[in-house]
Amino acid sequence: MKGRLREPSVSLLEDAGLGPEQPGERSLSFPCRNAPVDVLLVRAADIPEYVQDGVVDCGITGQDLVRERGARVDELLPLGFGSCHLDAAVPEESPFLTIEDLAGATVATVYPRLTRELMPVEVELVDVTGSVEVAPRLGLAEGIVDLVSSGNTLRTNGLRSLGTLFTSEAALFGSPGADVSQLVAMMRAVVEARAHRYLMLDAPKERVDEICAVIGSRSPSVLPLADPALVAVHALVPAKDVWQLLPKLEAVGAFSILIVPVERMLA
Ligand code: AMP
Repeated sequence: MKGRLREPSVSLLEDAGLGPEQPGERSLSFPCRNAPVDVLLVRAADIPEYVQDGVVDCGITGQDLVRERGARVDELLPLGFGSCHLDAAVPEESPFLTIEDLAGATVATVYPRLTRELMPVEVELVDVTGSVEVAPRLGLAEGIVDLVSSGNTLRTNGLRSLGTLFTSEAALFGSPGADVSQLVAMMRAVVEARAHRYLMLDAPKERVDEICAVIGSRSPSVLPLADPALVAVHALVPAKDVWQLLPKLEAVGAFSILIVPVERMLA
């Protein structure tokens, strides 16, 4: 995990209590604090082979790269960062409107294997090693298949997406046979925790059922308060739901609402 996956990967290790022994160190390999784990920083594109060949026990890289290499590795844990999708795209002014319209067209990509596997129609592949998005302007190809996250690169290069072939995120991959279960457990506790928030609120006792229905949790904690007419409700909620939960909770009488981050979540 070098390049764009480096920072979020190191920060995941830090949060799992496995930061570099000497914080701030920029070298290409480092031992971790608190655990017998050595971290090697290499290019995301090289990791599928390193893991497959057992050079390392496990590695963090994009699902796209593992699939493109056809590497025989085990996906142990999706990590919730490095999200992107592999899209087919054409110049704004192109007559093509759907992916199927690309039948027989020339398509430039650094993902020949995924393109061949996932394109619903036959295309003529133009292999390039980088800067795929300029290929149509250079007259090298009529369309491209490339990774997109925000869509800014496509827009800047006057390209329009025709649709997605594959969605990807960073994941931890294990070498077949390697036992990295403890590391996976530590990372999972952090990944799960990041995806949740701890919600605390006060409410009139008689509205507890409505509040629990809004939260949708199977077993929120309902705690008595000094005022016998009130209770406190505590529950773990998905972080992505918080935005739409708040107005609904207020509408059913919740007040003094607190939302706090969770540090680790163990099953
Ligand atoms: P790197 O070559 O080290 O920058 O990492 C490339 C990996 O980062 C890709 O294989 C993807 O898994 C992931 N990624 C996430 N967003 C993007 C993006 N917009 N463009 C390219 N790669 C991305």
